[in-house]
Amino acid sequence: MQRIKEGIHIRSMKAKRKVEEISKEDVQAFFKKNAFVLSTVGAVVVGVILGFALRPYKMTYREVKYFSFPGELLMRMLQMLVLPLLISSLITGMAALDSKASGKMGMRAVIYYMSTTFIAVFVGIFIVLIIHPGRGSKAEFGKQQKIEQVSPADAFLDLIRNMFPPNLVKACTQQFKTKYSTRTVTVSVSVATTAWRNNNGSAALNGTWLSPSSNWTGPAPNVTEEEEEQREEVQVERTEIIPVPGDVNGVNALGLVVFSMCFGLIIGNMKEQGQVLRDFFDSLNEAIMRLVTIIMWYTPIGILFLIAGKIVEMDDLTQMGGQLGMYTITVIVGLMIHALVVLPTLYFAITRLNPFTFIMGLLQALITALGTSSSSATLPVTFKCLEENNRIDKRVTRFVLPVGATINMDGTALYEALAAIFIAQVNDVEMNFGQIITISITATAASIGAAGIPQAGLVTMVIVLTSVGLPTDDITLIIAVDWFLDRLRTTTNVLGDSIGAGIVEFLSRHELRSKDVEMGNSVVEERERAKKPYNLMQDAHTESNM
Ligand code: ASP
Repeated sequence: MQRIKEGIHIRSMKAKRKVEEISKEDVQAFFKKNAFVLSTVGAVVVGVILGFALRPYKMTYREVKYFSFPGELLMRMLQMLVLPLLISSLITGMAALDSKASGKMGMRAVIYYMSTTFIAVFVGIFIVLIIHPGRGSKAEFGKQQKIEQVSPADAFLDLIRNMFPPNLVKACTQQFKTKYSTRTVTVSVSVATTAWRNNNGSAALNGTWLSPSSNWTGPAPNVTEEEEEQREEVQVERTEIIPVPGDVNGVNALGLVVFSMCFGLIIGNMKEQGQVLRDFFDSLNEAIMRLVTIIMWYTPIGILFLIAGKIVEMDDLTQMGGQLGMYTITVIVGLMIHALVVLPTLYFAITRLNPFTFIMGLLQALITALGTSSSSATLPVTFKCLEENNRIDKRVTRFVLPVGATINMDGTALYEALAAIFIAQVNDVEMNFGQIITISITATAASIGAAGIPQAGLVTMVIVLTSVGLPTDDITLIIAVDWFLDRLRTTTNVLGDSIGAGIVEFLSRHELRSKDVEMGNSVVEERERAKKPYNLMQDAHTESNM
């Protein structure tokens, strides 16, 4: 009996030690596999603490710029990779699919982009109408600045113009943007002469004075029918505002996306003749992704300084009380609903997979978006996360991600619609149903037109405000909090693109599989997948996804 007891004791001790050993290894493995994610999360925490700790020292603008220099370097490194990555991934992505498969996939992606953007706009409008952060007075806001006016029609035409850049080299650095100029035109008008002409040559027409030398108009004196009949043609000079071609600095991503997609589709259909080009862009893509791997090591340091620098630089938080504070909360609530409820529900409804496991795999990309406020600078990291952690097929990511980063901006759309209605509330203007529909449409268009760079959404908001006749100068009312809200909406934008890639991959799985069989590369793909490092947090997703 004693021996049995001892045996049990020894066995249980051994088992206990084994459990201890395994759990230690487990923990080590967990830290090793998630080193990037953990260090990035750590960087955010340290950045926030450091930023607040340094605020009392009241650094000068120059000192803040020096302090954030490591962060600026990260932005520059990521931006350096965006252009070659965007072009090579789209070309190889399109070339790897035939026109039928890419057509179907493209259709799914566009339907996803449009529907999620409309849902985002709807959420934004719904939340701002419910919370009603604007209280009909501008008294508590600082002074306003003048904002450059843009006509919605010209902005829409510019969007289409930018899709077809006449010079591809220029498209890598500049975008087309309509500017406004004035010109004087001479028009002949018919005027009644007798009682109408005064000393300085002013004349009146249809009861209104017309003066070539001044803009003054006013009621004309009463004239008899007889006098009215005596008319004369006079030349009147008029000044009119005209749209003229102009350029602004920044990559014309839309133009490059359109070109690369068409180019990829063509070389994909060229069979052997296109092989050299396919190999070239494939190899370019691979090389860029290896560069991304190296830069990823620097991401935590860059993010730490980007966040700390911004916290040191930001205005006093007490300014954010009142309407602006309520507005900030409203935007945060709207973005949270879209990012944590709408998108995950959509993902789950379509794929039946756990959306939060998927989101955990994206953590590094989401934090990079938060740190850089640029979805295009985050693109390299998004690729890495989706392909390596979430094991999304490269043919899907290469095709869906660059397009998504350029045109699909759920966070921006939600924000623009919400901000426009907030400005209406501040001005005590009641929006009717028609105006709300106009805001939904223009906010969608404005989010498509917004570049994936910091605070681009604020610029395209002019279109939304003009379309419903709200004062565009009121954009300056919300500038104080935009740097912060921009980070949140960029994170939502990146999440929307990534979930889109997951959904499109799921919906296109049959085409992708049949293409694998056709090309005999399913084994290669599987082997490639097996070679990839995997993340503890991703097991569930991967297993159910395969
Ligand atoms: N910063 C955002 C982005 O890069 C665009 C915006 O300003 O809304 O996605």
